Amino acid sequence: MRIVMASAEVSPFSKTGGLGDVAGSLPKHLRELGHEVIVITPRYSVVRENASCLSDMAGLRRTAIDFSIPVGKRMMPGALQRSQLPGSDVPVYFVENKHYFDRDGLYGTGGGHDNDYADNAERFIFFTRAVLEACRKLDFAPDVIHCNDWQTGLLPVYIRTTYGNMPEFANTASVFTIHNLVYQGNFWHWDMKLTGLDWYLFNWRHLEYFGNLNFMKGGIVFADVVSTVSKQYAKEIQSEEYGAGLNEILSDRSDDLFGIINGVDYSIWSPETDEHIAARYGPDDLSGKAECKAALQQAYNLPARDSGGPQKHGAPLIGIVSRLDKQKGFDIIADAIEGIMALDLQIVLLGTGDPQYHALFENLAERHPGKLGVNLTFDNALAHQIEAGADMFLMPSRYEPCGLNQLYSLKYGTVPIVRATGGLADTIIDATPDAIEGGTATGFSFEDYTPAELLATVRRAVETYSHRDVWARLVRHCMAQDWSWSRSANEYVDLYHVARSNVSRRRLAMP
Ligand code: ADP
Repeated sequence: MRIVMASAEVSPFSKTGGLGDVAGSLPKHLRELGHEVIVITPRYSVVRENASCLSDMAGLRRTAIDFSIPVGKRMMPGALQRSQLPGSDVPVYFVENKHYFDRDGLYGTGGGHDNDYADNAERFIFFTRAVLEACRKLDFAPDVIHCNDWQTGLLPVYIRTTYGNMPEFANTASVFTIHNLVYQGNFWHWDMKLTGLDWYLFNWRHLEYFGNLNFMKGGIVFADVVSTVSKQYAKEIQSEEYGAGLNEILSDRSDDLFGIINGVDYSIWSPETDEHIAARYGPDDLSGKAECKAALQQAYNLPARDSGGPQKHGAPLIGIVSRLDKQKGFDIIADAIEGIMALDLQIVLLGTGDPQYHALFENLAERHPGKLGVNLTFDNALAHQIEAGADMFLMPSRYEPCGLNQLYSLKYGTVPIVRATGGLADTIIDATPDAIEGGTATGFSFEDYTPAELLATVRRAVETYSHRDVWARLVRHCMAQDWSWSRSANEYVDLYHVARSNVSRRRLAMP
C-alpha cells in the first residue's frame, strides 16, 4: 500500500508528546512490513535545530517542489524540504512557510497546547491542504492517508469534497486517529471562510459544534475509519464522562471506531542501548540500573539512600515525566502530596505546563529538600535518565488515551504506578497478592480518581519495594513485557484495509 502519514509532530524532528513518538516510529514499522510510506509534517523552527544534530542522512534538504494554497482570499506560498526517519529510508517531507511555522512553539508559546497561537486554524488549514498538494506534486497517489489529531481533522473532509474528484485521490481512504480527544481545534465560525469549504458543511451533522468550527469533529465524521490509541479509550470516549462533548458523534461511528495500542520504538527506548543514560543494563544484570539511580540522584541533588546492606535497599525513587496538566493527575497529586512525602521515598519530577503546577512543585521542592527534586523544562535526555534511574514511575492520569511513559518504564524495570484508565488500564496489571504470586503483575493501579486512592497505592508500592525478592521478581517481569510495534503495526495494516473497503461505500453518500 501507498501510505501518507500526516502529523503535526514527528520525533526526533518535533515533539510535544506521544503523537510525535508515534508518527516518528510507526512509519518505520509499516515500511518493514513492505509498504511505501511517506511522512508529511510542518517545518517548525525547532525542526532545523533537531535535524542538525542528526546524521547526514537525516539532515534537511531542499526539494524543487513549491506550491501556493488558497487560505481565504489569499494565496499562501509553501515549499517542501526533505529528510528521512533516522534508521530507515522512510522519507519525511516538511511543509515550509515562514509566516506560519517559523516560530518558537508548535501550537503556542507555552510548549504543547499552552497559550495557543491565535491563528492556529489558519496554520493548520494551510498545512492540511499542503499535504494534499504535496502528494500531487510528488506524484504520490495514496491508498491511505493516515491523519492524526485535530491538526489534520480537515484532511478527510477535503478528500471527500474539494479534492474528491482529483485523480490522485480517487481511491484514497482516510484514517483518522485520535491521540487525545480533549484538544479539538475548536475555532470561531468565520474561520470557515479560510477553509474554502462550502458553508453547507457548517451544520451540526458535519463541522459545526455549538456555533464553532470543530476540526476534530470533521475528522471523526468524514474519515473512512476512526481509531484511537487503546481499546479501553475507544470505549471510554463514547461515554459522557470521557467524550469531551463528542461522545454521541463517536457512538454514531462505533462500527468504524477501533482501538490500537501504541508500540514502543525499542531502538530509542531500551536500557540496553540507550546513549543518554549513565550505564547500560538488561534484565540479567541490573547493576547498571543502580548506577543510573545514583547519577539521577546526583543530577537532582538528592542524597543516595541505597546503602542499607544486602537485605535492605533503602528508599525507593519515584520518577515523573509529564506535561503538567490536570489530565495527568496533578490535581490529585497536589492533594495527596503531603501524605506521599511523609513516606520513606524520594521523588524526581520533569515537566512543563500549567503555571499553577510549576508554582506548586517549586514550593514543594523548597519544603522537602533531599526528598523531592524538580526540573520544570522539556529535556529528552533527562526523560531517559529518569526512566532508567527511578525505581517506580508515577502516572495517575484522569484519562489516558494510551500513555507511552508507562511502557518505557516497563522496559527500564521502573515499576509503573497508574490509574486504571484508557491505555494504562490496557497495559498495566495491578500487583495484587494473587498477581504477584502468579507472576503476572506489571505495576500498581487504582480505579477511583481520588487523592486517598492514589496515596494508598503509592503506600502499597513502597511497602512492596521493601521486600527485596518480591520487588526483583516484579522488576524482571516488567522488563520481559513486549510492547514493540510488531503487533500494533500489523493491526494498523488491517485497519487500512477496512478503510479501503469503506471507500466504495462512502462514495455513494455524504456522511
Ligand atoms: P502525552 O502525549 O499525553 O503527553 P505520553 O505518555 O503518550 O503523554 O507521551 C509523552 C511523551 O513526551 C513521552 O515520550 C515523554 O517522555 C515525553 N515528555 C513529556 N514531558 C516531557 C518533558 N518535560 N521533557 C522530556 N520529555 C517529556
